[in-house]
Amino acid sequence: MSLEKYEPVIGLEVHVQLQTKSKIFCSCSTKFGAEANTQTCPICLGLPGSLPVLNEQALYYGIKAGIALNCHIAERLKFDRKNYFYPDLPKAYQISQFDMPVAYRGWLMIETKDGNKKIGITRAHLEEDAGKLIHEGIKDASVVDYNRCGTPLLEIVSEPDLRTPEDAYEYLTTLKAILEYLEVSDCNMDEGSLRCDANVSIRLRGAEKFGTKAEIKNLNSFKAVAKSIQYEIERQAEVLESGERVIQETRLWNDEKGQTISMRSKEEAHDYRYFPEPDLVPFTISRQRVEEIRKTLPELPQAREERFLRDYKLSNYDAHVLVSDKKHADYFEQAIRAGADPKKVSNWLTSELFGLLNTRKETLDTCKVSAKALSGLIQLIDKQVISGKIAKEVLPIMVETGKDPETIVKEKGLVQVTDTKFLEDIAKKIIEVNPKSVADFKSGKTAAIGFLVGQMMKETKGKANPALANQILEQQLKKS
Ligand code: ADP
Ligand code: ZN
Ligand code: MG
Repeated sequence: MSLEKYEPVIGLEVHVQLQTKSKIFCSCSTKFGAEANTQTCPICLGLPGSLPVLNEQALYYGIKAGIALNCHIAERLKFDRKNYFYPDLPKAYQISQFDMPVAYRGWLMIETKDGNKKIGITRAHLEEDAGKLIHEGIKDASVVDYNRCGTPLLEIVSEPDLRTPEDAYEYLTTLKAILEYLEVSDCNMDEGSLRCDANVSIRLRGAEKFGTKAEIKNLNSFKAVAKSIQYEIERQAEVLESGERVIQETRLWNDEKGQTISMRSKEEAHDYRYFPEPDLVPFTISRQRVEEIRKTLPELPQAREERFLRDYKLSNYDAHVLVSDKKHADYFEQAIRAGADPKKVSNWLTSELFGLLNTRKETLDTCKVSAKALSGLIQLIDKQVISGKIAKEVLPIMVETGKDPETIVKEKGLVQVTDTKFLEDIAKKIIEVNPKSVADFKSGKTAAIGFLVGQMMKETKGKANPALANQILEQQLKKS
């Protein structure tokens, strides 16, 4: 079956937990991981007679994110009740925003292999989270933890502007980076601070009208989002190819099986009977306040990427990878401030340090190597105290022990050999035992010297200064 016939259309709905200390309508803590039902009160438990009060910080974060996503910010703030019955929602309605979201009609730019693409943001609205039902490990019952109930969420809805699973992945990475830079959410997917539903349809290439979409839920990583979209594109193409019609439905992603499974069709969809929340009166957001917030915006990832390209002359790829994680970019700049060359820091960070951390299932958060220490290691190479090869042996020890590079080099006696007499003796020996390479060199195959230098490095266990070894070898070859 040919997928080429069809063009996928994708829109994403992202829920992010705003990192306020207390919940959106009460003063209960939002801290993750507390004992079940210890962070609740009459308001977030929805007891009769309790009244919600809006958390100003949540509103601030919502506006901040809206501005960064190039949105219009609502003139008036209004909340609505979204009614549905489910045991994780004790009030039987969720306070959300229906027709007047805090932010609307914005966009963000994603980098794709075909260049930059502008993706529309339909809206971003504030709402409260529900509690958590727990089914696992309990026989014949489910239990509920209301600690999460009332945690502030910002739901960010994209326009159906994405066209490939890779687009969707890039959109999420870009959005996450922006939210992290803004410090409005920790975006920790494992703790559910960032959740995504994907809407997917396909249409014949060139067709104007969108196809019928399926909404995919239960996506717990960006990779799962991309995989589920790919699966869904293929499934829908098969449905159309067999002469049937795609039905509008909600489907669940099963990560182990790599499949989406139907959960409910449109007919079973809820009628939420939205109506204005009478306990929270609408109010005006002054333009002055919006401008004040605009001024608090930090440098955002795309601006930082441009600065990295300009000031540090990194490759597009390296700059993009570095800035897409704020912690990585911060670490990178700290290492530069500590004196190392930007390009070298970028290489050592992305190919060496991250490689080591990956195999140890660590991140920069737990990493014992400070930016200053990495910078120090690079500078030891620059000062020819050690070779790059030795540095690659030192770094794993730094990762393991947290010791600084100078100490390790001293303790292990790894200082580079720059003793000319010593290197001359080794060069003579290497020349003696490699007559073939020597003959090659003399007959004009200058590349043969590379092999001979390699032998010298081997002989000195990588401690010879490579440039010096090369020079001495050439001298000795001429004499021989
Ligand atoms: P619903 O009323 O089903 O929630 P919305 O119009 O609110 O649908 O859109 C929800 C999400 O689905 C948005 O991200 C939007 O971009 C996306 N979307 C809408 N129509 C389509 C479509 N035909 N194909 C793919 N995505 C779509
Ligand atoms: Zn509460
Ligand atoms: Mg919708």
